[in-house]
Amino acid sequence: MPVARLIRHAGLMLAALTACATTWAQSFELAPLPYPHNALAPVIDEQTMQIHHGRHHKAYVDNLNAAIAKDPALQGKSLEALHAVMSQLPVAVRNNGGGHWNHTFFWQSMTRPGQGGAPSAALQAAINRDFGSQDAFKAAFKAAGLGRFGSGWAWLIVGADGKLKITSTPNQDNPLMDLVPERGTPLLGNDVWEHAYYLQYQNKRGDYLDAWWQVVDWNVVSTRYAAAAAPTTR
Ligand code: MN
Repeated sequence: MPVARLIRHAGLMLAALTACATTWAQSFELAPLPYPHNALAPVIDEQTMQIHHGRHHKAYVDNLNAAIAKDPALQGKSLEALHAVMSQLPVAVRNNGGGHWNHTFFWQSMTRPGQGGAPSAALQAAINRDFGSQDAFKAAFKAAGLGRFGSGWAWLIVGADGKLKITSTPNQDNPLMDLVPERGTPLLGNDVWEHAYYLQYQNKRGDYLDAWWQVVDWNVVSTRYAAAAAPTTR
């Protein structure tokens, strides 16, 4: 092969590889927060939000993209599709894919203090039916968050039987993964990693769990419940 053609050939191959790498580097993206960094103060302070979103969540996205770039079998799949077969995937996808999903869901679950409204009538009825009362629900959710040793999440989910349930997962696992003992559709999740609250609450995780209700967006949670409880038309 003439040298000029060889160089051109190599150049084309390099361009193709670069395009491919670029595609996968961009496959998952860190969305901006749906509100300013100081919007949740004084419940969650501005610096915690900056570090939590801009460094922790960003690292999950970057590391997820790096893990997927290494494995063609994982490319082009949605985050939800990866969750459904997580037990078969590399631990880097579990930790960082879970981290990306959990944090995206978490940011969307919160709003300015006092602006989150109240559970819809249907959701409140389900809470009363399955936990006894809103206070009993909140107490059980707090207990799940306090009882998670080390790092993880507390969840409110809808199970396959249509019942609400409170669960907890370690690390960045979540109820959508096929490897957790209690699967379901998440309605609400709270991050109990120390990075979520330590600057403001230090060791007082219970105080953070109590204060957090002020920023829960019940409008969002109620919409999720309506979607999860709707009869499927398939
Ligand atoms: Mn976190």
